[in-house]
Amino acid sequence: MSLPDIAELAAGAGWRCADCISDLHLQQAEPGTFDAWRRYMASTPADAVFILGDLFEAWPGDDVVDEPGFEADCAAVLRQACARRPVFFLHGNRDFLVGKAFAASTGVRLLADPTVLSFGGVRWLLSHGDLLCLADAEYLRFRAQVRSPGWQRDFLARPLAERQAVARALRAQSEERKRSGTAYADVDAEAARAWLRAAGADALIHGHTHRPREHELGDGLRRIVLTDWDLAASPQRAEVLRVAADGGWQRLPLD
Ligand code: MN
Repeated sequence: MSLPDIAELAAGAGWRCADCISDLHLQQAEPGTFDAWRRYMASTPADAVFILGDLFEAWPGDDVVDEPGFEADCAAVLRQACARRPVFFLHGNRDFLVGKAFAASTGVRLLADPTVLSFGGVRWLLSHGDLLCLADAEYLRFRAQVRSPGWQRDFLARPLAERQAVARALRAQSEERKRSGTAYADVDAEAARAWLRAAGADALIHGHTHRPREHELGDGLRRIVLTDWDLAASPQRAEVLRVAADGGWQRLPLD
């Protein structure tokens, strides 16, 4: 396995705590999750918010926010949040096409995957997590293709309606896979250890797998998995992982 480039980010001098969330899969058909996220973004006391991928269920291109609609409403939430604190965004497998135009128009800061956040004497390695699911070879081939600048240029040159149709088809495929009960790959423990060692990091925080728990990886290394959000599920799922300036961390359910 080849190691990715590892970006570095230093916490702001006055930060007391920072939140990590991922896998909200925001979409018009799930207004409850959007409302919970909107309230959270307006009310969190955190000094920074890290969105670790799959904020959106699909992203056809930044021009989607040029028209009024669900994505424009999401952009407005981010714009208001960014006016009060930094909001960082790292791509997931659903919203990998979120681009510089969207970042510029909302104030969101794009992060490379993975990025080390040094905060309170701890080096947190932040990732979406999909690149570490080595057993999902078919997806990793797809990922390599759609992350290439050439593919993205060609895709984004197509009319928006066509791109939205492709996004719908991919979603339907994924739903079908879920229904068929296909087992999803999990993060490869050895790969996670290799990333952590290469980054000189203490703990990996990631989403993607929707399997929120902690894994001890040996040698004091740790993997912390974020939950996805689904306010229509029973019980509801929505949680924030808050890391603090004292090096501690906790999971906080939404009120
Ligand atoms: Mn994902």
